[in-house]
Amino acid sequence: MATSWDFDTDVVVVGGGACGLMAAVHAATHAGGVDVVLLEKNERWGCNAELASGTLQAAGTRLQQAADIDDSPEIMYGDIMRKNHGRSDPAVTMALCRQSAEMVHWFIDHLGLPLVLATEIRRIGHTRMRMHAHPTRSGKPIVRALRERLAALPNVVYADNTPGRGLVTDDQGQVIGVLVGPDGQVQRIRCKRVVLATDGFGASKEMLGRYIPEMRDALYVGAQGNTGEGIRWGMEVGAAVEHIEGYQGLGYVHPTSGTRINPGVVISGGIVVNRLAERFEREDQGYSEWAGVVLGQPGGIGITIWDERIQRLYAHAHTMVESLEAGTIVRADSLEELARHFGLEAAKLAASVEDYNRGVERGCDRLGRELLERPLAPPYYGAMITGGLAHTFGGLKIDVHGRVLRPDGAPVPNLYAGGGTAVGVSGDTPDGYLSASGLLTAYGLGMIIGQHSARTLREAPS
Ligand SMILES: Cc1cc2nc3c(=O)[nH]c(=O)nc-3n(C[C@H](O)[C@H](O)[C@H](O)COP(=O)(O)OP(=O)(O)OC[C@H]3O[C@@H](n4cnc5c(N)ncnc54)[C@H](O)[C@@H]3O)c2cc1C
Repeated sequence: MATSWDFDTDVVVVGGGACGLMAAVHAATHAGGVDVVLLEKNERWGCNAELASGTLQAAGTRLQQAADIDDSPEIMYGDIMRKNHGRSDPAVTMALCRQSAEMVHWFIDHLGLPLVLATEIRRIGHTRMRMHAHPTRSGKPIVRALRERLAALPNVVYADNTPGRGLVTDDQGQVIGVLVGPDGQVQRIRCKRVVLATDGFGASKEMLGRYIPEMRDALYVGAQGNTGEGIRWGMEVGAAVEHIEGYQGLGYVHPTSGTRINPGVVISGGIVVNRLAERFEREDQGYSEWAGVVLGQPGGIGITIWDERIQRLYAHAHTMVESLEAGTIVRADSLEELARHFGLEAAKLAASVEDYNRGVERGCDRLGRELLERPLAPPYYGAMITGGLAHTFGGLKIDVHGRVLRPDGAPVPNLYAGGGTAVGVSGDTPDGYLSASGLLTAYGLGMIIGQHSARTLREAPS
């Protein structure tokens, strides 16, 4: 039981990434708004939302309507559930699908972001064109706009370099405050609601070793600050946890630089060979499950190969720009030149590409690939890839308002969680990830939590 406090506010949000920023803005502005303190461990380390391509899935938007795309929250729900093998909470999943169009419209109308329907972004499992993104295809402009919006709000304190350290509860188990600050200078903030938005535990070797040992030593491409505190604190106050072994892999990461090849390259007709210059599995799989497929090849390495037509489709994507800048994409006039660069046997590479091209022309691929566009033609492009870890799926169980639940289904009083701190909509296996579900659960739940906390506090302020 706390006896003295250093600061008093309505809502404390822990974590200044996608979910935290969105929850803070909405709590501060919805239904008249309440006072908010947002704690961020270290903005300079970056959050996953900034590292992301910023691809947002949303159904029923006016951008889709303008493009004559017939989509709905129900169709999107079906796609998510098919991909995750029916393993996410139906009510929370549907609430997010219903929120998705409002979320995209809010970014455009209230943050002034020039989001577009990104028609070139094709991803496995989406039966409709519903990817919305910034023209740069980067997540950074969305995060920047949210931070600027927060800075302009008089009822928000944004505290960077200020890690949350734990929750304070009273003797009835209600959350009544947060411990904050560096070692030796820990302070106590009293508040009426706490939002845990510290993402998952991709940066914690200790938690990976315990819950996802096979990815403990994989190349982690997410933010360094995501060490799982929010999940641990929730467990300490009695919250239920689900799908803790689930994770999103990234199957197209360069092994040393960590730069990525856009997954659309393969969906639009690129192929992947191993160090023996052989294709090994149909490439038209989700990039999350593809991480494990590549890691199973000799040296855990693959070489993605594409051509000029495909390069033109994706050249503007921030992942491709960064890869080119890092020198990890190689252009070659012939397969022989490409083989020489990657140390592959030239005759075998030529045979693999020829075999694939014949399959495209026949409409029947030897490995069973269904997405067959056009035969590959010179000049070619290539990049070395491996499988990495992007983020973890498991977390605190929540209801449709983002309130954290105990194993008996009762809410932990005054506690919310969203983004990677809450259990996501991707189940407990890498192949459960439908592309763009990460930001849906982060921005979408941030919006839901911010609005719910402001509304309930306004209705019953004590
Ligand atoms: C390379 C990459 C690409 C991706 N691309 C996409 C995409 O295009 N579309 C999509 O939907 N998803 C994508 N994702 C997933 C998506 O980025 C995440 O699911 C999403 O950002 C999670 O949001 P969040 O708010 O939970 O966490 P984050 O955005 O990671 O923010 C968490 C914040 O909490 C802070 N924090 C942690 N602990 C504390 C503490 N104790 N005190 C204070 N602050 C703390 C961290 O420093 C960080 O700033 C991608 C992920 C990666 C790694």
